Amino acid sequence: MDAKDFRDFGKAAVDFLADYTENIRDRDVLPSVEPGYLSELIPSSAPEKPETWQEVLNDVERVIMPGVTHWNSPQFHAYYPTANSYPGIVGELMTAGIGSIGFSWIASPACTELEVITMNWLGKMMGLPEEFLSSSEGPGGGVIQGSASEATLVGLLAAKERTVRRIKKQNPDMDEGSIKAKLVAYTSDQSNSSVEKAGLLGSMPMRLLPVDKKCSLRGATLLEAMKKDKEAGLIPCYVVATLGTTGTCAFDNLEELGPICNDNNIWLHVDAAYAGAAFICPEYRHLMTGVNYADSFNFNPHKWLLTNFDCSALWVKDSRLLINAFNVDRIYLAHDKQGLVPDYRHWQIPLGRRFRALKLWFVLRLYGVEGLQKHIRHSINLAKHFETHINSDERFEIVTERSMGLVCFRMKGDDKLTRGLLDRLMKRKRIYLIAATFGEKLMIRFVVCSRLCQVDDIDFAWNEIRGQADITSSSTII
Ligand code: PLP
Repeated sequence: MDAKDFRDFGKAAVDFLADYTENIRDRDVLPSVEPGYLSELIPSSAPEKPETWQEVLNDVERVIMPGVTHWNSPQFHAYYPTANSYPGIVGELMTAGIGSIGFSWIASPACTELEVITMNWLGKMMGLPEEFLSSSEGPGGGVIQGSASEATLVGLLAAKERTVRRIKKQNPDMDEGSIKAKLVAYTSDQSNSSVEKAGLLGSMPMRLLPVDKKCSLRGATLLEAMKKDKEAGLIPCYVVATLGTTGTCAFDNLEELGPICNDNNIWLHVDAAYAGAAFICPEYRHLMTGVNYADSFNFNPHKWLLTNFDCSALWVKDSRLLINAFNVDRIYLAHDKQGLVPDYRHWQIPLGRRFRALKLWFVLRLYGVEGLQKHIRHSINLAKHFETHINSDERFEIVTERSMGLVCFRMKGDDKLTRGLLDRLMKRKRIYLIAATFGEKLMIRFVVCSRLCQVDDIDFAWNEIRGQADITSSSTII
């Protein structure tokens, strides 16, 4: 493909995406295809001769779109949002076009330096303690990971290394293997599946501790679990506290967990994957009280901060602990400015890294702090609006208190009613919601996800739910 075709193809693709976005309400949010649908539409071998870009672009509508779940549709209310915005998309395009790999400063200085600066901007916007920022005196700093899952694993591996060094210093005769075999980690039974997975990948048992009535992990529960483990000769090493759990958007009690971790040399990692974005609004910062005790803090701009996947922001108070844990040098990676600026390969699992800060920079500049705050507040107001609909109909009940953009509700009475309602809604494909359980009861999670979502979209979803509930109620009576 020559530059002329690239210009034409690129412009046509951008036009396609703008039309797709602006008309996304015309499509069912869920596709109507069956497994294997694609093999009937695409040849079983790659073409021998090059095709034209027009043919390929046409096939996006014909072949791909029928099998797309429209995560950015205002009718998508499942999981948590995946961020999407025009500045974010253009940022992704630029990253692909520039195509540099910033594993060290010299591998692409702009890649590293823009990441340092945008992570400081973001940390300041959220009111994170200074110690997390690389603009402070100390060894703190931020890095963009691919996902919250990776950030949790990175924290676990750094915690492991720190604990092994500490125990080895106290007991020089103990070998590393036997220290590692004694390490144990803790989180709540409400934490994301990726936290348990980090334990599996990092070979550290992850205790899933029970929560209180508000789904929050409390200090006393952690203390009790640690006591049992210490009595069994184990060494508490890592705690993952969640701010905004996946099921009900609950907040663990950092003010209680933090001092326990600090007093016991346990690494405290805060997973605020979804809810962390709200901390750019001062009125929600009280929900991260106690963050000063944490060793690492992570949230996903790729969830609720309009920056396309992947962009997961991780800050650590002491970046030297990451570097110690992950430093593997080779002569071909060395450069003469080492030590003056981060070589981000030491802060992450892979060697290669995309220029992800570019899209974050575009989003931060093109929305500004005010524009992003407006987006967060708008989502929360829409969730409140949905909540008033639920409260206006006595067949429904709110299960857990609305939190951020999430409303958890159910039909009063037997779980069969809620299951029947959800099944009908899923068959119709007009809106997308998912089930969850709370206190053994089935409930439906409704999340305000798309940046395009407006009051009319919430009313549309409510009418759909109410209409199907009418059918569910009457068929149950029969
Ligand atoms: N942590 C929490 C609280 C989440 O809700 C999620 C996903 O929804 C994750 C972690 C995983 O995020 P990622 O896909 O970036 O690994």
